[in-house]
Amino acid sequence: MEDEQITTIGGCHLCKRTFSFTPASVMTVMMDPETNLPLGMTVSGSFREPTPEATARSVKEHVCPDCVNRMKQLRAFMDQPTRQFDTWQRPNP
Ligand SMILES: [Zn+2]
Repeated sequence: MEDEQITTIGGCHLCKRTFSFTPASVMTVMMDPETNLPLGMTVSGSFREPTPEATARSVKEHVCPDCVNRMKQLRAFMDQPTRQFDTWQRPNP
């Protein structure tokens, strides 16, 4: 095959799996080294607005396609309106 693509082997930052990728098309995610989670993500898996400090210290890390898909699903879930959630979770007096 003449179809030459420069492939790099790297480790996925999220699942630690080794995978090959082309640097031009690899997905990267901003990781917060303090929490070792994607920027804005909390340990419980919920999303909250990242603090300026977290944004400043975050570094770009490579992520494998599997994890990208997982994050896309999560993102789609998070994009849904969550207003109803507030009413469900209203604390009882
Ligand atoms: Zn992964």
